[in-house]
Amino acid sequence: MSEKTIALVTGANKGIGYEIAAGLGALGWSIGVGARDGERMAEAVAKLRAAGTDAFAVPLDVTDDASVDAAARLIEERTGRLDVLVNNAGIAGGWPEAPSTLDPATVRRLVETNVIGVIRVTNAMLPLLRRSAHPRIVNQSSHVGSLTLQTIPEVDLGGISGGYAPTKTYLNAVTIQYAKELSGTGILINNACPGYVATDLNGFSGTQTPEQGAAIAIHLATLPDGGPTGQLFDDNGVVPW
Ligand code: NAP
Repeated sequence: MSEKTIALVTGANKGIGYEIAAGLGALGWSIGVGARDGERMAEAVAKLRAAGTDAFAVPLDVTDDASVDAAARLIEERTGRLDVLVNNAGIAGGWPEAPSTLDPATVRRLVETNVIGVIRVTNAMLPLLRRSAHPRIVNQSSHVGSLTLQTIPEVDLGGISGGYAPTKTYLNAVTIQYAKELSGTGILINNACPGYVATDLNGFSGTQTPEQGAAIAIHLATLPDGGPTGQLFDDNGVVPW
């Protein structure tokens, strides 16, 4: 079995996910590049390898049971275990997005990817994570998912987000439940707020680079044993739920 730390990053073909893969790869880790688009995945793997990262392709659509099961089998056959799972893949709706004009299909699409996708991938990977000596799970959340921040009038979260923001709130709630279930197993699970990052997700309107946005997820992926679990973090520390 590999001595290297083995990580899977979902949605790693571009944006913040790519930079998380690059940052963890720079630590000498072996990185599964989870992506649904074959061409972009091959490009990302080639670029990471050219930079010296031990990267391998993991075809993965987080909304598809068969795809996620196949990804778990691929990792099992290749490495026999998983040390770190970064659930980064996500989609946004419109912005701003008034709840009064939201159509149910949009809500379902957002929840399917941003919430159920994380649960699907986590549950498929948990048997592999349980074989790790230092297992970690990082879920990509957002400041907009914090009910505390959403209800402080002075905090500017960029306008109304009736579809996307609640999916991150839901994800936060799910993470708390995982942390309770996994308490005492050694598996640390935390959520990251990357900040406002210039990526496809927001038409590159963000003020931070994807590399800057990747920093908190990388920090949470490399927590020491006994570190925090079941919490929400940004670069400055704990963010209120
Ligand atoms: P991005 O550049 O659009 O990247 C999103 C990634 O998720 C892409 O690799 C995309 O793959 C992948 N993805 C989407 N649906 C998928 C699916 N069904 N299966 C597999 N992969 C899928 O956006 P980003 O800003 O880097 O977003 C990464 C994460 O950060 C998201 O969870 C987002 O909500 C979160 N976030 C971003 C910001 C920000 O300011 N950018 C702020 C807070 C939180 P394809 O190439 O195949 O579409």
